[in-house]
Amino acid sequence: MDESFHMSPAEFRRHGHAVVDWVAGYLEHVGEYPVASRVAPGEVRAALPPEPPEQGEPFAAMLADLDRVILPGITHWQSPGFFGFFPCNGSGPAILGELVSAGLGIQGMLWATSPAATELETHVLDWLVDLLALPEAFRGNGVIQDSASSATLCALLAARQRAGVPYAALTGYTSTQAHSSVEKGWQIAGLDLANLRQVPVDGTYAMRPDALAALLAEDVAAGRTPAFVSATVGTTSSNAVDPVRAVAAVTTPHRAWLHVDAAMSGTAAVCPEFRWIHDGLELADSYCFNPHKWMFTSFDCDAFYVADRAALTNALSIVPEYLRNPASESGAVIDYRDWQIPLGRRFRALKLWFVLRHYGAEGLRHHVREHVTLAQELAAWLAADPRFEVVVDPPLNLVCFRHAAGDDASQTLLDALNATGEVFLTHTRLADRLVIRVSVGATQTRRAHVEHLRALIDRFAG
Ligand code: PLP
Repeated sequence: MDESFHMSPAEFRRHGHAVVDWVAGYLEHVGEYPVASRVAPGEVRAALPPEPPEQGEPFAAMLADLDRVILPGITHWQSPGFFGFFPCNGSGPAILGELVSAGLGIQGMLWATSPAATELETHVLDWLVDLLALPEAFRGNGVIQDSASSATLCALLAARQRAGVPYAALTGYTSTQAHSSVEKGWQIAGLDLANLRQVPVDGTYAMRPDALAALLAEDVAAGRTPAFVSATVGTTSSNAVDPVRAVAAVTTPHRAWLHVDAAMSGTAAVCPEFRWIHDGLELADSYCFNPHKWMFTSFDCDAFYVADRAALTNALSIVPEYLRNPASESGAVIDYRDWQIPLGRRFRALKLWFVLRHYGAEGLRHHVREHVTLAQELAAWLAADPRFEVVVDPPLNLVCFRHAAGDDASQTLLDALNATGEVFLTHTRLADRLVIRVSVGATQTRRAHVEHLRALIDRFAG
């Protein structure tokens, strides 16, 4: 029985070229689709055959169905008109890196299961230490996680382990504006949600160190053990930057673990003028940011650093006999399985490596500066128009504004903008008022696109 159903190398080459052409065409024309998908629930499934095929199909049929079935159900995160949530960037070099990673098809759980995967990962994360001027303690101590949520959970598990007291006594602290992943991680870690304190914020929605200090003191007085503080550099709602140095000053006397979540905004530190966001980071135990958000690297790619790797691996390392090998036993290598929740891991460093080499520091700085400039120009235009209120001065590339006539007018404006299909924006609530967010960071978003958004806002604001 030497029959084979596998795709031959020659077929792979031919279909592969067709797929690359398809993706290139998609990215070339992505701005022409309605940004947010308009399908109704169930519509995509209804267009799919109920049964899997008994006989294999020609590859061309799959490509045809991408256009027919899948594209209508896609929200085009890569569209230049995508201003929603935070960006989820892709780029040519990142996509090609993903392709090579899939082509190699390795599983990099141990150094020994593909030394290049581990060593390239450590190396490009050290490049990021240089590019973002991160603290020296992070050098050699970086790992790629799938998401900021996983990074925060790993930090939390390390903190829980390091505290060394019964879980019920542990308390954690994060601002009222922190991402929901902190609360989720706390629950996954089996900790009492009643012991996760929400620290009040100031007028810029940044954590108040004095309020943190008061909560810490209160818990210590009550016999509890502060174990974990999570500061945010660039909150999801409004891009607020918690003052890391001042937060650290009140955290470190309690020996609580300080994690800094810079999921979207960390990338800004490629530009020296934005490095103030990381002031005090050398006092943190761990840090993460997402190249998949603003560094033109396809999802998933979160760069996570710890100052003391033993604190992390002590919490996550369990060595079954079947994974023992001489390289690991020698202690001379990193086994990244001990730095994350799952065992297996993809070769994500490739796409980041391709991105860093394609753009160079200069290219990254150029596009980050452009996004920040465009956001701040938009904010200045909105602030000068009495129809609008800019809710916070944008520190970087997120503009938060509302209609001066109130929540209903803001909602009407948001709906009208999104109904055009030319742009996509999302909302939040700040001080219990509806706020429209304009997140300027998609790979293809340039000046013309932000100016078009401005014209639409002008047209629909009434
Ligand atoms: N932290 C912050 C500040 C975020 O803005 C986000 C997502 O937008 C996250 C964490 C979660 O990111 P991820 O999807 O990588 O878990």
